Amino acid sequence: MCPLCNGFQKISIPCSNCGTSMVNSGREAEYYDDYSPYMPIDMMKMEDGFPRNEREGKCPHLFICRNCGAAEVKLIKE
Ligand SMILES: [Zn+2]
Ligand SMILES: [Zn+2]
Repeated sequence: MCPLCNGFQKISIPCSNCGTSMVNSGREAEYYDDYSPYMPIDMMKMEDGFPRNEREGKCPHLFICRNCGAAEVKLIKE
C-alpha cells in the first residue's frame, strides 16, 4: 500500500526550481482527471516518461510547488 494514499506518511520534496517544499497534490491519475479530461489515457501514460514496468508496485504522485508552480511526478513505493 502506498503510504501517501493511506495518509501514513507525509513526504516533502524540494522544488528543483526554487527549493521550496513541494506539496503532494494527490495521485497523478486524479490530477489528470481533473485538469485534462480531453486527453486519452494512453497518451497520459507516455507523457510522464515512466515506462510501464517501472510503475509496478509504485504509486505515482504529483507534487506541486506553491511558490513557483512547478510540478513533478514521483513514484512512491507501495
Ligand atoms: Zn499513492
Ligand atoms: Zn518552486
